[in-house]
Amino acid sequence: MEKQTFAELGISPDLLNAIEALGFEQPAPIQAQAIPPGIEGRDVVGQSQTGSGKTMAFAIPALQRLDPHKRGVQVLILCPTRELAIQVCEEIHKLTAHMSGVKATPIYGGASYDRQIRALQSGAQIVVGTPGRVIDFIERDLLRLENIQTLVFDEADEMLDMGFKDEIDRVVKALPKERQTIFFSATLSGPIKYLIESYTRNPVWVTIEHKALTVPTIEQRYYEVNSRSKVEVLCRLLDLENPRLAILFANTKRMVDDVTDALMARGYSADRLHGDLNQTARDRVMKNFRSGNIEVLVATDVAARGLDVDDVDLVVNIDLPYDEEDYVHRIGRTGRAGRSGKAMSLVSGREIFLMQRIQRYAKVRIERHKVPTREEVEGKRADTYFELLRATLEEGNYKSHEDTVQRLLDAGQSATEICSALMHLWIGDSARESEEIIEDRPRPEKAPRGPRENDGGGERGYREPRERAPRDYGPAAGGDHRPPRREHRSDAAPSPHHTRMFINVGAVDGATPREISGALYRACELPQGTVGKIDIYAKCSFVLVQNDFVETVMDRIGSTKLHGRNLRMDVAK
Ligand code: AMP
Repeated sequence: MEKQTFAELGISPDLLNAIEALGFEQPAPIQAQAIPPGIEGRDVVGQSQTGSGKTMAFAIPALQRLDPHKRGVQVLILCPTRELAIQVCEEIHKLTAHMSGVKATPIYGGASYDRQIRALQSGAQIVVGTPGRVIDFIERDLLRLENIQTLVFDEADEMLDMGFKDEIDRVVKALPKERQTIFFSATLSGPIKYLIESYTRNPVWVTIEHKALTVPTIEQRYYEVNSRSKVEVLCRLLDLENPRLAILFANTKRMVDDVTDALMARGYSADRLHGDLNQTARDRVMKNFRSGNIEVLVATDVAARGLDVDDVDLVVNIDLPYDEEDYVHRIGRTGRAGRSGKAMSLVSGREIFLMQRIQRYAKVRIERHKVPTREEVEGKRADTYFELLRATLEEGNYKSHEDTVQRLLDAGQSATEICSALMHLWIGDSARESEEIIEDRPRPEKAPRGPRENDGGGERGYREPRERAPRDYGPAAGGDHRPPRREHRSDAAPSPHHTRMFINVGAVDGATPREISGALYRACELPQGTVGKIDIYAKCSFVLVQNDFVETVMDRIGSTKLHGRNLRMDVAK
């Protein structure tokens, strides 16, 4: 069945523009079901997990129904934690960025009252708050709720778990009886059902149907990454897998644009496919992809529908779809016609819950893999060149160049020197300069938990959200424009956390970055991630080493040999 579009849900033009500007192409299932009755003013009860798109599912109806010309609070959203209150408020700000006169403010414990009072007094129509602080504000007569027309419970089960039942009852007592109530909860236990019965009227129940899914038997794995690392991890996967054709999927047009731009800037032959492209542009992209002129296609689900390409060997989910069915469609793009294919997903923060849901409903086990290190990528690259050279030697059709080589030998150059110089000409400067990401660093020891923060205004104490990670769906690719792959590599200044060190082996010794890093880790017993970029020169190399380990390296490396040479390292001049 064709999925609904946002426009078909009865959303007003203002909000549709805001949704368009956010780059959302299709409603998440929970949105498709909850928004229409919400806009009609019905009470809604939704069972939904975090990361399912539930915030927009209640924010869109609430916003559509409020009167921007009236001051005073019209929408109250209750959340269990301050983090959630802040996140929900941010999400609402995204929607209201271009709506004049609509204001939303969070009020939560553990923060100064002044700013929150000022925000309220400036005429916010939407308050997103934690129950304790909301009660506190009501009791101090700082928050008047007689004009509330929509009350939202976000993560109601969590609020009960945190012991907010009394506060909730007291807040609801202060509200007008004639109002809309929207209720979201991940679970529907007895006490939650009691709350629903007490506080909603004839609600529309929204549940997400999970169809029986048949998942193609292709290799599937996922990588847990910080959202800011996604582009670098994508590049590493592309470098390691070296696919002939790959499709990368993203949830928003914006993400598609950001990732395509970032890949192109790094020298990949990539192009995009999303709903903003006209038919001529789409046809051109598709033709280029089918013929192999483009190796990497970055697409949204909607744009990739009906895309007919058989020999895609890698599918990557830059972010996970809200719908398990979309996951199955996405990965079904590879491994067709009996070919082998791979599907990889980058999972950050709350997306881990989507990953679990996909595994549960699609009845597959998707293995978690460690993010490939820079050394692995370098190693793979070296192996590829090694194989290419070996194959060329076996083919033997290089003989026409032997005269030139002989002249160099006669001039006193060694065979190793000549070959290394040739390799330098061939690949030396063409490799993509990889970027350090947080996953490369050694994991810090867990610090002991500090004392619980307290509200002072009746809040039950702050608890870290169970399933939440910092909200960062913004441009993962953001702003970083590295030189294209084929441009000369610059000797960019190392980060302040690293020291550039000289090591006395280089290409003429046959040393590779992988060997050097291997020697360092083994001989100096360095923790994972302490060795950074390695530049190989003819007779020496330069290695970035984390500042704290420079002494260790200088002390210990002398006991090791590489290609027969005693190693020596020093801080580079
Ligand atoms: P939530 O479950 O409300 O915490 O939302 C998860 C994330 O998905 C938020 O960062 C939203 O901005 C984003 N999001 C929500 N709906 C959509 C959609 N229809 N398409 C793409 N992204 C969305």
